[in-house]
Amino acid sequence: MRLNVNKLLHTPESRQDFRFALDLSDLDFGGSCPVSEPVNVEGQIRNKAGVLLCDLTAHTTLHCVCDRCCEPFSEEKMVAYSCVLAEERQFDDDEDIVLLEHDEVDLGDLARTAFILDMDTKFLCKPDCKGLCPGCGVNRNEAPCRCKKEVDPRLAKLSQLLQDK
Ligand SMILES: [Zn+2]
Ligand SMILES: [Zn+2]
Repeated sequence: MRLNVNKLLHTPESRQDFRFALDLSDLDFGGSCPVSEPVNVEGQIRNKAGVLLCDLTAHTTLHCVCDRCCEPFSEEKMVAYSCVLAEERQFDDDEDIVLLEHDEVDLGDLARTAFILDMDTKFLCKPDCKGLCPGCGVNRNEAPCRCKKEVDPRLAKLSQLLQDK
């Protein structure tokens, strides 16, 4: 989605809205592709006192598998991103500046990068997911662990000593 901003650049206080869908279904996060639905991007570019400001949000529903309990789950994902569009670097480096190429900006590329940078490295069905027991494999969110409680041998010895008294 390339947009020519020549008119916006030269028209003070002008603005242009945009809206498009992005296909990120090929994004691989550790072997899974959670962005199976289209990512809906919308936003606007404004000329504010001669500076082009771009604001966008990218929204989709992720379909993930929990890293702890291996259960599939869905999650709403909303990413907001803002930057300044400029023909050349002329401001502080603090600001997020995207350089125009022949007065064009690739909004699809901006949204894609912003979305990827905001993705978590871990997928959890809930923040306090208890996961699977490494011993018996039970999903500890749903059932108590079936492992027999292993007694620390040192504690066993201690209780033995106490009993002998
Ligand atoms: Zn989980
Ligand atoms: Zn267990």
